[in-house]
Amino acid sequence: MRVGCVKEIKNNEFRVGMTPDNVKNYVRAGHEVYIERDAGVGSGFTTEQYEKAGAHILDQAKDVWDKSEMMIKVKEPLKEEYGFFHEGLILYTYLHLAADRELMDAMLASKVKGVAYETLIERDGSIPLLAPMSQIAGRLSIQEGAKYLEKPFGGSGVLLSGVPGTPKAKVVILGAGSVGTNACKIAVGMGADVTIMDINLKRLAYLDDIFGARIQTLVSTDAAVEAAVSNADLVIGCVLIPGKAAPKLMKKEYLKHMKPGSVIVDVAVDQGGCCETTKVTYHDDPTFVVDGVVHYCVGNMPGAVPYTSTIALTNATQSYGLQIAAAGLEEACRKNSVMYSSINTYDGMITCKNVADSFGME
Ligand code: NAD
Repeated sequence: MRVGCVKEIKNNEFRVGMTPDNVKNYVRAGHEVYIERDAGVGSGFTTEQYEKAGAHILDQAKDVWDKSEMMIKVKEPLKEEYGFFHEGLILYTYLHLAADRELMDAMLASKVKGVAYETLIERDGSIPLLAPMSQIAGRLSIQEGAKYLEKPFGGSGVLLSGVPGTPKAKVVILGAGSVGTNACKIAVGMGADVTIMDINLKRLAYLDDIFGARIQTLVSTDAAVEAAVSNADLVIGCVLIPGKAAPKLMKKEYLKHMKPGSVIVDVAVDQGGCCETTKVTYHDDPTFVVDGVVHYCVGNMPGAVPYTSTIALTNATQSYGLQIAAAGLEEACRKNSVMYSSINTYDGMITCKNVADSFGME
């Protein structure tokens, strides 16, 4: 199959859909790979590395799109890219179509086969192409929180671990899923005093088994959240009810009882956030202050570490991509039926129920 990868054009997006190592594996499997010049520089991969791996380098994105039977990307195509769609093209990327009617219409009109990373659901219910980004956001949340607790960044000036003879920082993590578990791991590793809250007792029992006496697990109720955050230096918001807006666990009035210069990192911002005071921020101006509490609410946190994010993402996308390239999309799905869940558009039709539901279609 002819496989392509272009440079991402979204603002501040430095990830790339294929690494030179991926190229090597596709070429070894007998495929032709076309890469746009400089597609990987933002993630630390040079054009020479792609060339050495066996890719054909093309100067114009349009030529890569034209050559490709399967396009491997990171982010959903932007308007400037819709003109490159052609009938039968397999578009393998994050799509988030429920939030983008215009993109969906463009894909239906050009009969693109849209394969969305975020809807590929394995038999055990896991979402393997989304998980690496939650792992990164969870780990990064503590790193960012630690930074904004520093005085020059507007924080209270507390060091997460403390030092002998001083109190450790208190970290409260709301949500014990993928993001919360990864945040917990880093916060514990840095020596903070960690409390993690969820409504799912099984998740809390799992974390208790893993971390033992090094963390406090608590069932999340309004009263428990209010008490925990009023004492916290750093709050990580990472609750999720799939497909729905995040529940607002952090009420605005709680901020008045929090320490001045304490920090909230609301990772759940992409689902509306779990604090009433959350609004989306971007990497070039990531924080704002409400009632003396610093808020960090960046919607694409993994974009801050594109080298790690690209490798983590492509580690997960490669095996499904190779299955599609080897057999074609239809046969790949027959051989591995979990892949049906990833197809969002096919031959001018919407083929994902959640996407159709979100537009009120049958
Ligand atoms: P997950 O499904 O693994 O975990 C969510 C947890 O929230 C679950 O354990 C669930 O039981 C818990 N929960 C639900 N309602 C709750 C409540 N009322 N009180 C306490 N806990 C509750 O999800 P995840 O992969 O950890 O993702 C969390 C959020 O982070 C999602 O919104 C995801 O989209 C977002 N995210 C954001 C970024 C970013 O860059 N901002 C990156 C990755 C993920």
